[in-house]
Amino acid sequence: MAKTLIVGEIQKGALRESTLELVTAARKLGGEVVSLVIGSGVGAQAEDLAKKGGGKVLLADDASLANYNLDGWTRAIKRAVDAEKPDLVLISNTPIGWDIAGALAAQLDCAVASDVIRLETEGADLVCTRRMFNAKFDARVRLSGTPRVVTMQPGASEAYAGSDAGSVAKLDGVGGQNRTQFVEIRVAPAGGHDLTKAEIIVSGGRGLQKPENFEAVLKPLVEALGAQMGASRPVVDAGWLPHEYQVGSSGQIVSPKLYVAVGISGAIQHLVGMKNSNFIIAINKDADAPIFEVADVGIVGDLFEVVPALVNAVKTAKGG
Ligand SMILES: Cc1cc2nc3c(=O)[nH]c(=O)nc-3n(C[C@H](O)[C@H](O)[C@H](O)COP(=O)(O)OP(=O)(O)OC[C@H]3O[C@@H](n4cnc5c(N)ncnc54)[C@H](O)[C@@H]3O)c2cc1C
Repeated sequence: MAKTLIVGEIQKGALRESTLELVTAARKLGGEVVSLVIGSGVGAQAEDLAKKGGGKVLLADDASLANYNLDGWTRAIKRAVDAEKPDLVLISNTPIGWDIAGALAAQLDCAVASDVIRLETEGADLVCTRRMFNAKFDARVRLSGTPRVVTMQPGASEAYAGSDAGSVAKLDGVGGQNRTQFVEIRVAPAGGHDLTKAEIIVSGGRGLQKPENFEAVLKPLVEALGAQMGASRPVVDAGWLPHEYQVGSSGQIVSPKLYVAVGISGAIQHLVGMKNSNFIIAINKDADAPIFEVADVGIVGDLFEVVPALVNAVKTAKGG
């Protein structure tokens, strides 16, 4: 890839981890890496990205870009594409990335792939691997022509840890009228279930089959281990547990001493939320479930037999 343009994202005043993961992915492809930081008063974040492997960082700084806005962001990215003529535009697969990728590709009249976990070049083509249907299979998508727009799953690469000195250059002509206006951000009230501070988490997934089994099967293990209960997203989407129980890219990012995943397949969106746990135990009846790729101990079996046996073993070990 001769040139890749990374679209950076800022969250709570700092570069998102996923932006530094894009740096790793772009550098693996080879060629020149340029980046774009969009916002108002975001010079410090652009400097930061330049120090963290972002190469030449274009700074699109304007009052009209103060909060995320599809019009403003596509305007800024198109300016950067016109100026730099990249072969590839890399965006994180975040809510901003989902919103912008399709619209941007339509405006650039180019190919787009979302949810990508791996990038390779084959001749002049870019081949993207997309994990699909709850990680049941991977699809390989070949993108031809330039530029291409790709959104990468958070967690698909490590965050770039080098400290190469890049530069920052102001990008002109990025201001303008947005057809939609930012109104406000509403933060959900904090619940009492803070998984980020838990030392032990026992999480249940769709494998538990029904909400009553969280009480009847999972809770005894939670109590025996002195843990907090977590869950995968389908469990929360189904209303079996509140959102503050959800672990993953659109839930909580946790790093307990012990994480027990029960009946969870290990989709990348779940893994990104718990893979930094110190020790991981996975219980799943499917020996090929991706959760076993990150597990320190994997138990292949029926959770309705394994979990009660584990509860007894923990109680016995604790002398109860
Ligand atoms: C934009 C986006 C954001 C997302 N964010 C998140 C997120 O934050 N967190 C999250 O978790 N997911 C998230 N997802 C969803 C994610 O892609 C998966 O769909 C989800 O993680 C799957 O949940 P699961 O493992 O519980 O269910 P499934 O994938 O259905 O897996 C159930 C597992 O249970 C096992 N099982 C079934 N019965 C038994 C049994 N009796 N004994 C043992 N094992 C059994 C099966 O073998 C299977 O592996 C997101 C998806 C998208 C598109």
